[in-house]
Amino acid sequence: AAMRDNRINKTKTVCTYCGVGCSFDVWTKGRDILKVEPQVEAPANGISTCVKGKFGWDYVNSEERLTKPLIRKGEEFHEASWEEALQLIKEKFMEIKERDGANALSFISSSKCTNEESYLMQKLARAVVGTNNVDNCSRYCQTPATMGLFRTVGHGGDAGSIKDIEMSELVIVIGSNTAESHPVLATRVKSSHKLRGQKLIVSDLRKHEMAERSDLFIRPKPGTDLVWLSAVTKYLADNGWIDEEFLRNRVNGLEEYRESLEKYTLEEAERITGVSKAELIKTAEMIRDAKTTCVLWAMGVTQHSGGSDTSTAISNLLLMTGNYGKPGAGAYPLRGHNNVQGASDFGSMPDRMPGYELVADEEVREKYKNGWGVDLPSEKGWNNHEMVDAVHEGKLKAMYLKGEDMGIVDSNINYVRAAFEKLEFFVVQDLFLTETAKFADVVLPASPSLEKEGTFTNTERRIQRLYQVLEPLGGSKPDWRIIQEVANTLGANWNYEHPSDIMAEAAGLADLFAGVSYERLEGYDSLQWPVEPDGTDTPLLFTEEFPFDDGKAKLFPVDWTKPLEYEKEYDIHVNNGRLLEHFHEGNMTYKSKGITSKTPRVFVEVSPELAKERGVTDGTLVRLESPYGAVRMKCLVTDRVRGKEVYIPMNDNNAGAVNLLTSSYADKDTDTPAYKEVSVRMEVLEKT
Ligand code: SF4
Repeated sequence: AAMRDNRINKTKTVCTYCGVGCSFDVWTKGRDILKVEPQVEAPANGISTCVKGKFGWDYVNSEERLTKPLIRKGEEFHEASWEEALQLIKEKFMEIKERDGANALSFISSSKCTNEESYLMQKLARAVVGTNNVDNCSRYCQTPATMGLFRTVGHGGDAGSIKDIEMSELVIVIGSNTAESHPVLATRVKSSHKLRGQKLIVSDLRKHEMAERSDLFIRPKPGTDLVWLSAVTKYLADNGWIDEEFLRNRVNGLEEYRESLEKYTLEEAERITGVSKAELIKTAEMIRDAKTTCVLWAMGVTQHSGGSDTSTAISNLLLMTGNYGKPGAGAYPLRGHNNVQGASDFGSMPDRMPGYELVADEEVREKYKNGWGVDLPSEKGWNNHEMVDAVHEGKLKAMYLKGEDMGIVDSNINYVRAAFEKLEFFVVQDLFLTETAKFADVVLPASPSLEKEGTFTNTERRIQRLYQVLEPLGGSKPDWRIIQEVANTLGANWNYEHPSDIMAEAAGLADLFAGVSYERLEGYDSLQWPVEPDGTDTPLLFTEEFPFDDGKAKLFPVDWTKPLEYEKEYDIHVNNGRLLEHFHEGNMTYKSKGITSKTPRVFVEVSPELAKERGVTDGTLVRLESPYGAVRMKCLVTDRVRGKEVYIPMNDNNAGAVNLLTSSYADKDTDTPAYKEVSVRMEVLEKT
């Protein structure tokens, strides 16, 4: 063993820090991570990585890792054996199920876990416990984008590949801080823009790096993207700058949709959005002049009360201009977590089975009954957001949550944490004793990506394998093993020996993954769904038809929903998003010395105008208060923001969490929290 420890191992893995899905070799010696070495054959990134992928791995050896199950006794946690922990879960789950029914239990999967683990989580909920109360954290970010695509083009994933974005003549980025959130993808756009004459339009509140580089930067008022998108689409249609042939042959609903656009005149759009008529016309002309257009968007669009509708408006615009089904074109919602795409793809959703087949469809349930040997519940389950309400209403008693620090990342966390306290029984499975785990009755120690095998699906629908680099630390276990043990303790008889067994089962049941197998994913090989039984994959969607009965896409009329309005005293709008160096709530990256040495804790960006008005400078401590909670943080004065618009990076897992400020308001179609609709009042606490 001593000799082995001295050997340098090189193992292929897939980055866990964003949806770009960079893959690379990790060099290790014993448990030391020596370096990350990208390979030319990596399909999403080639030889590129960003700072997170390159330096963000030493958290796996953090002393704070959980290595034994914990059981709550009163106010304290005690270490326990796996047997004890599983036994307690069995007792409590059974007791609650017998007393209150299967729907008193709920399951939340994670966008950080593998496809196989999300598959097992929903199977546990449906086949073992008997409830559709299963969801995943894409509910917090990308579900509205998926909804917009389902309504119009039928597949909830990026229309093409990163390569298509790279070769597009025009890239429109809406509500996405791409350079910091999806760095390697942003690099592709930057170089196409610089070297190949690609045009770039950015719509955002904040003048981030992509905005600085753009050919046209528009700054609509918060939550008004749907209005300018619709006005630009109307202007294109009125001038005959739409793709008549494409619309005739491949799209339904043109007439009704055009009627719905009537109200979106340039004048009206200018009034509502603050974007000038001239800029709206310029946007339309740039779309007219480009043979191919891609639209990239993220949480600046989705995290609003009309998030699904705005995503739909984006897809409508692309359909009107024939920008689907050809190289270099299409809709690209940029998935945040590494496996946001896969967590939903593999069925951790309250209304959809793996491959997005509907739970409500009897034939689908019949298929799974044959595969799993049990009857499935037909009633749609609760999503994350509804689960929290259901706990407050006394209807939901138990929750099994893995890999998600919901007590930080959900909106209005004071309300969410109160729900955790009300739960009769709460199981949390994670790497660390997170803020959420602190509320648990049982905490199960899981293993991170480097300590397990499995697959992730990146933003391009690309399924890639990760290989085990290290042994699980201490008594921690890969999530798929833990879920299997929980299932078997509850009476199931699962015998998965390797994640490839799980994938084989999923591929046999869900048409979308019919030809997916570990053999076809060896090394740097990858597959983009849908995958035919013979292994043919689909880098570019919709080349022949859209997945609707008649093969045609649908224009879907939408109306603008006004963002949440606040009392006058809450006069400052809070925007929030990522920082390049940190990932999400920061549970992993703040434990990485390689990263914290580069970026410390968070701050609030204040515009020079507001700074002058309130007398604050860099480093001034302020208190921000919304109707839902308050935070204190230091100011950074910058012209990236303007007027009474402030920006808070969300990557902070301590008292600065932005979700102490956010409300419980949500997208009306998907319940994704309206994180971006926050207003506060600001109090200056001390000057520097
Ligand atoms: Fe990881 Fe995303 Fe950076 Fe690639 S761009 S190395 S996937 S964080």
